[in-house]
Amino acid sequence: MPPSTQSCKLLTNGYKFDISRNGDLEYGPCCQYTGDFIQLPEPKEVQLNYRNKLSKIDSYSAPSCAQCNFLESKDLKISMRQAAHLLPNNLLHVELQIDKTCNGGCIICSPQYSSFLRNEALQHDPLSIVPVISTQDNLKLVLETLDLDKVVSINFVGGEPLMSKMYLQLIQLIKNPGMVQLRYTTNGSIRPSAQLLEIWKKFKSVVINFSIDGIGDQFEYIRFPLKWDIVTANMFLLRDSEIPNITYKINHVVTPVNQFYFDEFNEWRIRNFSIDAIGNDIPFSFTPAAGPLSPTIISQALHTLLLTKYAKDSPIIRTVISFRNTDSAIVDHLDSIDRKRNLDWRAVFPDIVDALEQIKS
Ligand code: SF4
Repeated sequence: MPPSTQSCKLLTNGYKFDISRNGDLEYGPCCQYTGDFIQLPEPKEVQLNYRNKLSKIDSYSAPSCAQCNFLESKDLKISMRQAAHLLPNNLLHVELQIDKTCNGGCIICSPQYSSFLRNEALQHDPLSIVPVISTQDNLKLVLETLDLDKVVSINFVGGEPLMSKMYLQLIQLIKNPGMVQLRYTTNGSIRPSAQLLEIWKKFKSVVINFSIDGIGDQFEYIRFPLKWDIVTANMFLLRDSEIPNITYKINHVVTPVNQFYFDEFNEWRIRNFSIDAIGNDIPFSFTPAAGPLSPTIISQALHTLLLTKYAKDSPIIRTVISFRNTDSAIVDHLDSIDRKRNLDWRAVFPDIVDALEQIKS
């Protein structure tokens, strides 16, 4: 992968819209940026000042851009900064995470990002609730903030973006679809409607990025309550429909729960979903999870187990940057999930049980 040679285009041309923990719509330059986001509504000049401040950031040294620097230094995947280099100066890249409607309760997610998890939390721990707001007002604010005519790519993330009526409404407002690429990061459980497939045909291109973090019952544990057979049937059906402007991708989110099993997932991927219906490669990205299930800091016991399977220069081992004494927080997290869902992570991931529990305090 060639080294990056300039600072980040998304600091000037990127818009990541999200809903903050207090329920306000906010935006920053991208989903990896950990600095301040601006909460809306704000007058135009306040937003201009914010963008000016962003444009002065040196992304190669700013702590707020550490994720891109980490991915590039470890050569794990193309960072968002590298992907944005080709973006023309006056055009915009947008990521929308303003509709949290979701049928999935993924173990790396939280009630802030999934209506399924919010409902589950309401049932089990109502005091922990954070607002999940998916309102037309948010779409209105986005449209007031952006010049939609300058947008060349939109990345829809969730929630489950293929369930979102708001996103369907938004793409119908685009006047020049032939200039715009749409990207959907989907859990694969929702089949696009005939109406949506017709609308997609007008766009420059559509990328369907399937989130597949394991296979079989491991997929079903990680992305509860989705069903592996339904998701894979949807993937194969879309791929085999041969719609010329649609391409596919797999995103594999790596955590201490699934990293030992990466080889099994990868073997399935190569056998079943690495080439599309016309013979083009289907790309794949290896994405270390952020937050409490990050695979960058693990116990020595888990690291030793991983080394029984993976070489020191493999992506799995290169992802690890430091060690902690115990994985007890992960065990507690999984035990709490099992109590709510009547599942048994030890039966689904038997090989890692001893390593995770070795020094449980
Ligand atoms: S360098 Fe990375 S984290 Fe920083 S703004 Fe660019 S894409 Fe986002």
